Amino acid sequence: MTAPSRPSAGDVGLTTILVGDDPASHVYISGKHRAATSVGIHANDLRLPADMPQDELLELIAGLNADDSVDGLLVQLPLPAHIDETKTIEAIDPAKDIDGLHPMNAGSLYLGRPRLVPATPLGIMRMLAEHRIEPQGARAVVVGRSNIVGKPIAHLLLQAHATVTICHSRTVDLQRHTLDADILVAAVGQVHMIGADMVMAGSTVIDVGMNRTEEGLFGDVDPDAVELAAYLTPVPGGVGPMTIAMVLKNTVTAARARRGLVSRAH
Ligand code: NAP
Repeated sequence: MTAPSRPSAGDVGLTTILVGDDPASHVYISGKHRAATSVGIHANDLRLPADMPQDELLELIAGLNADDSVDGLLVQLPLPAHIDETKTIEAIDPAKDIDGLHPMNAGSLYLGRPRLVPATPLGIMRMLAEHRIEPQGARAVVVGRSNIVGKPIAHLLLQAHATVTICHSRTVDLQRHTLDADILVAAVGQVHMIGADMVMAGSTVIDVGMNRTEEGLFGDVDPDAVELAAYLTPVPGGVGPMTIAMVLKNTVTAARARRGLVSRAH
């Protein structure tokens, strides 16, 4: 076994923490590390046993907060049941919180002054910009209200002057809302739950879903929706790679901010 290389001064440093043996989390973390290394970010991959006690995890995070070679710090979710997710997220230095989940970063987004924003929503906004899909004045419908995808993408779309509706498991007559969407973001976690008959002709559909089944990886949107939509992101190969790219971008944003250099959150 070789010892991990030490970062040199000036390197951008990313450290990720993965607790336990969730197979999907291992795949996501490995993807992030491959990408980080390929662009020259010094990446440190900490994989910890599922029975890691909460206080030891908090101590580890405190040490990494104080370590100047760490610019971005990410704790992969979900965490094992005995670990308090909120406490863990709040233990991360907001300046290093590249998942954008610390209340300081989430609150800044809510106030319209985004700093570190969760990578998936950031990637969605970047895709819209790259394809010149204008949120201003558009009717945007977000299905899902998680802290990591649904809420932050709703805020980003709102700040980009879309008229935003957020739907969730208690929404009555979901189709009535989705059929009205110029921009539809599906972040639910159920295979093809957005049927082709729920998509408006000419709309832009962003499929965030990554649902692993024995038959393979599937999104939240029925691929037949491509017949109606002007744009539909593929699964795999759409939002997933953009998320990884934005994790790297957030790491650089954090590094620049920590060095007192001007940087844009997105
Ligand atoms: P989550 O925390 O489980 O949230 C799912 C949301 O969907 C909840 O707000 C839930 O509503 C809502 N929902 C559940 N059933 C519904 C229904 N029948 N109708 C309408 N809304 C319903 O999931 P998440 O973390 O946001 O992830 C969502 C999906 O995106 C998953 O497949 C995940 O793997 C994927 N994902 C992909 C990436 C990527 O990089 N591509 C990144 C993150 C997540 P309630 O709040 O009412 O329960």
